[in-house]
Amino acid sequence: MSEKCVFCEIAHGRIPSIRVYEDADFIAFMDINPISEGHLLLVTRGHYPKTTDVPDAILDKALTLAKKLAAATLLSVGREDFNLVVNNGPLAGQLVKHWHMHIIPRRSKDELPLKQGAPADLTRLPFVAERVRENLR
Ligand code: AMP
Ligand code: ZN
Repeated sequence: MSEKCVFCEIAHGRIPSIRVYEDADFIAFMDINPISEGHLLLVTRGHYPKTTDVPDAILDKALTLAKKLAAATLLSVGREDFNLVVNNGPLAGQLVKHWHMHIIPRRSKDELPLKQGAPADLTRLPFVAERVRENLR
């Protein structure tokens, strides 16, 4: 799609990447700035900015594929725990506006910036939950 989209360029073979997997819908390659050894990106072949833009038929396959890639990655780097992360939009830290899932092996006491939030405001939580339930209908 966009000339300026680095993942479209990679998906179409116009710029190099260190690939570990590809099929009609996805490619997976090593992140060039890894948070940990084995950090992979699972990327849709088509240009979809956010999870909400990806067609269901493609998205349905993503988690199964991430599971398979994560298992192979963990074996390869001798780790057991990992994060699957999808950043959606700039406020969520998405730098490349083309759907991708990070597969990030973790190790004991590493200092990756994935922290728990502050305790919930229990007076507000039920109202937010109710709004979500309404919007699911
Ligand atoms: P995000 O903040 O979720 O958009 O993450 C984008 C990720 O893409 C970052 O972890 C970058 O290191 C990675 N990245 C950007 N360009 C490349 C590239 N050419 N090859 C591999 N990884 C890349
Ligand atoms: Zn793209």
